[in-house]
Amino acid sequence: DGLLLEVEDLRVEFHTEDGVAKAINGVNFDLHEGETLAILGESGSGKSVTAQAIMGILDMPPAVIPGGQIRYCGQDLLTMPEEQRRKTRGPEISMVFQDALSSLNPVFPVGWQIAEMFRKHRGMNKSDSLERAVKLMQRVQIPAAKERVKAYPHQFSGGMRQRIMIAMAIALDPAVLIADEPTTALDVTVQAQIMSLLQELQEERQMGLILITHDLGVVADVADKIAVMYAGRIVERADVFDLYRQPAHPYTKGLLESIPRLDQKGQQLAAIGGLPPNLMRIPAGCAFNPRCRYAQDICREERPELLTVAPGRESACHFAEEVLHG
Ligand code: SF4
Ligand code: MG
Repeated sequence: DGLLLEVEDLRVEFHTEDGVAKAINGVNFDLHEGETLAILGESGSGKSVTAQAIMGILDMPPAVIPGGQIRYCGQDLLTMPEEQRRKTRGPEISMVFQDALSSLNPVFPVGWQIAEMFRKHRGMNKSDSLERAVKLMQRVQIPAAKERVKAYPHQFSGGMRQRIMIAMAIALDPAVLIADEPTTALDVTVQAQIMSLLQELQEERQMGLILITHDLGVVADVADKIAVMYAGRIVERADVFDLYRQPAHPYTKGLLESIPRLDQKGQQLAAIGGLPPNLMRIPAGCAFNPRCRYAQDICREERPELLTVAPGRESACHFAEEVLHG
């Protein structure tokens, strides 16, 4: 049925001198072929850590995974043999990062860096691999790719560098592509172009795409489903359209109210008051309670589970029905 990735009850902790930061506290989601899942949250919500755990690029130590599974095609990445893991992470599950400049090597031409994927993983020779690199650069719409294959990273704009990173990420035809804030460093027009490129590639290759973002506005047109994260948990999950129209969690509602609207340019945004919790001292009950305008006594005592509140809608809030219908 095209099920690619199953993350089950994933937990990640960072053991530091000051204590244990509980970065991921039981995250569950699936990703199918041809599906785009957006993971939305503020910084520190655990969205990037989730991606890093899937890719195996957490700082380790002090990162510890005390529980959970990350299954790719039914097999747990956390326990599979190292050899198999290396053939999965990178070739099958690949990632695009926020900062293309620091991800690219400044001393090698971009074409050489793309071609290296084919030399290293497909055993291609120099000229064949460079030819493939040019094709990929054309596919990600880099103008004059044939000439620019020899250019260095600093000779490209931020948007073009991000296209080069995308070319490298799709070079080996991954089944899953994870993009962590792929457009955050770019201006709004370029953001939209990069998002539509990702969407095109996703559709053409039927990849499972995970878009990690703090900005719902950027992913709204591209994502099918959205998981909203707070303090290392998913607090709401829905189809993007439903969530946009009618959020079922107070945190999501706050995020939606803080999206800049084109018809209210320059107006002060109604951001959510307060700060996300210190992950070493996550509040008891609902982690969002200190910032929540709906909070009642029960919210400080009992942790709400992620439950179905309407068809295809899940929310971890004691008052989800009121939020949804109110
Ligand atoms: Fe707010 Fe309570 Fe719902 Fe948490 S459980 S989001 S504090 S209403
Ligand atoms: Mg991040």
